[in-house]
Amino acid sequence: MNYKQQLEVIKNLNLKQDHKERTDCPFCHNSNTMLIDTTGNSIGWYCFHASCKAKGKHEGQKTMDYVTKTFSNKKDDTELSSFKVPESFKSPFSHEKAMRYLQNNNCWDSFMMNRADIKYDVAQDRVVFVVKNKYTNECAGAVGRALNKDTYPKWFMYGSKHVPFICGECDDAVIVEDCASACAVSGVLTGIALMGTSLVDTHLAHIMQYKTIYVALDRDATTKSFAIAKELRSKGFTNVKVKALEDDLKYFKTDEIRSIFYD
Ligand SMILES: [Zn+2]
Repeated sequence: MNYKQQLEVIKNLNLKQDHKERTDCPFCHNSNTMLIDTTGNSIGWYCFHASCKAKGKHEGQKTMDYVTKTFSNKKDDTELSSFKVPESFKSPFSHEKAMRYLQNNNCWDSFMMNRADIKYDVAQDRVVFVVKNKYTNECAGAVGRALNKDTYPKWFMYGSKHVPFICGECDDAVIVEDCASACAVSGVLTGIALMGTSLVDTHLAHIMQYKTIYVALDRDATTKSFAIAKELRSKGFTNVKVKALEDDLKYFKTDEIRSIFYD
């Protein structure tokens, strides 16, 4: 469907003036994938579904910024439900094994420099990475890594899974599998942990402002890295590069990471 045809469909949706909403897509019919923005004397629309190319704007310039804001302004969205930090989260200084984990997985610098909020959960015996929603500045959840072999699962998700764990404030970002890798890279690039090997649609709003987005999942998941890069490109990201790794990023020191990405 070309731009004109799309605009006709959009105009016939009985849109409210000066309003942003997320709704079912009238083109691909997927639920809640369409963002519509009628603020600022224009109509902008964008569908996030991988199979759907619907997007456009009528009068006025709209950038991806508005998509970001629309995502984060949607107050009833589950991605925004804030998470109450349990009493069992203590400083990792209280637990030697937790300290050792941070040291051995190159999380120490990001912890000491406050790029990451890291705790020790005495109830579950886990090192915990607190997930912040940068748009609301609220705690969205946390990710806990088990410190002994008998604790299952190895990685435990507290609270919402809709916000990725992000560490660092660099212009370029790298999508990684776990929080430790996100911390390890954060002196060089912003680390974004998927907590797995698949991208969730609600993550998109949190990764769209970076100059270059590298995808560097663990060594055994290079094929998945390429799949994620492809998915991002299909959603309008043109600045995506895959980095194949010889080992997981959490095992590299900051200067080694710099040479992996920038030499
Ligand atoms: Zn669509």
